Amino acid sequence: MLEITGLRKSFGQAQVLRGVDLSVRRGGVTCVIGPSGSGKSTLLRCVNHLEKVDAGRIEVDGELIGYRESGGGLHELGDRAIARQRARIGMVFQQFNLFGHLTVLQNLVEAPVGVLGLSKKDAAARAREKLRRVGLADRENAYPRQLSGGQQQRIAIARALAMEPKLLLFDEPTSALDPELVGEVLAVLRDLAEAGHTMLVVTHEIGFAREAADEVVFLDRGEVVESGPPGRVLDHPREARTKEFLHRTR
Ligand code: ATP
Ligand code: MG
Repeated sequence: MLEITGLRKSFGQAQVLRGVDLSVRRGGVTCVIGPSGSGKSTLLRCVNHLEKVDAGRIEVDGELIGYRESGGGLHELGDRAIARQRARIGMVFQQFNLFGHLTVLQNLVEAPVGVLGLSKKDAAARAREKLRRVGLADRENAYPRQLSGGQQQRIAIARALAMEPKLLLFDEPTSALDPELVGEVLAVLRDLAEAGHTMLVVTHEIGFAREAADEVVFLDRGEVVESGPPGRVLDHPREARTKEFLHRTR
């Protein structure tokens, strides 16, 4: 479903991604772990073309993201084509990025109406279904500031789901939360994984990766140091850098 090959990205002199290969199978969950500054967020941002890539390919469902091929070269897509691709890729950030002046329901209805062209009625029905999914059906009229951090993040997840994307990207969805609120968000992520959503999750929650991922990728200094099933990478790492990282996060 998601295939990343040879992805390179620099900011000025700094090579942030140095030839990354990574895939997520349809219905699969890949967790990316790695130290601060290793390029995890940049990797996610490349997947929905919030960053231009320097080299490599990103394909979602066989479709090249951000570029079209012609005359043996890659040319960046126009804004509308990029927006169309992004509409199929959901992204959830560490800071929930909800619209503070809109109610929960309005937050969920906006993009399905504005981007997908759903009627307000259909979008509201869909929004309510997604709110039930994250256990917040009773909060549709609340404003984000009236909710806890964990609830706000669950709303952000419901908002991503309301677009019914093919692929969901999560960038450390629990790291801005107080410890007692982490569990409720991870429970939603587990539920989505079990329901067969295709997910790429950057996380510091090793326990979550062990249970929910079918593939774990350890990224360090812009390189995939090792990847494989969680039991292999997390419990029997082969590389010294992975061992050292896991030792530090214990
Ligand atoms: P963290 O765990 O702290 O979120 P990360 O693995 O997500 O880290 P990135 O945010 O991808 O790391 O950053 C990787 C490197 O790229 C860092 O050195 C960062 O300073 C640099 N970087 C990221 N975005 C930019 C940018 N827009 N301009 C310049 N440098 C950037
Ligand atoms: Mg990051």
